[in-house]
Amino acid sequence: RISIGILALQGAFAEHEASLHRLKINRQLHVILVRTPEELSQCDALIIPGGESTTIALLARLAGLLEPLKDFTKSKPIWGTCAGAILLSQSVSGGAKKGGQELLGGISIKIARNGWGSQIESFEAPLELNGIRESTRPFQALFIRAPVVVEILSFPEDPLITVVARIPLELLPPALIEENMSENDPRTVVALRQGRHLLTTFHPELTEDDRFHEYFVHSCVLSP
Ligand code: GLN
Repeated sequence: RISIGILALQGAFAEHEASLHRLKINRQLHVILVRTPEELSQCDALIIPGGESTTIALLARLAGLLEPLKDFTKSKPIWGTCAGAILLSQSVSGGAKKGGQELLGGISIKIARNGWGSQIESFEAPLELNGIRESTRPFQALFIRAPVVVEILSFPEDPLITVVARIPLELLPPALIEENMSENDPRTVVALRQGRHLLTTFHPELTEDDRFHEYFVHSCVLSP
């Protein structure tokens, strides 16, 4: 059995738990809601849910989890969704209070909190997937005050970044659209993988489509 932890300090951890229980492979999974360093130490992989990234970071510090989480990031797979994606990034811009916010830094990108702006804080978009089962069937993604990937910071020696899903240019918030913007602009990236880590700026756990959960367990955890 493999133990998949879900950081359960704040946010949509119960929804991730339900998604994991729906997977075909669920009998081989032991799901641990992680609130202490001891619980984290029992996990083979971790999901960091959406919620409020500053709150999750603060609660992690209070629980003595911040350093153990940073160590975990160096050796084991982590999937961050939305607020979790922010925590997993190397650098963040916008919305962080003075003094910045604590990050775990497993993925070499710069991300902007609440990057879609206030008019469209929440929206849905059908995504084309790359490398995920039934990739011709679009994934209906839910974005809730989602962050935006603004820059890829990886060096050649870093694990390769693979784009798993992009949002079409025309669905970007008007404030982000620039003239002659390329379809490959980092801002269109909404799901990516680097090494054994996965990042989604939207919320697969709030839909019944479990392909991302399946992908994380099979491709990042079991056979990376
Ligand atoms: N805007 C939130 C943050 O900055 C993330 C929102 C979410 O997780 N749905 O942490």
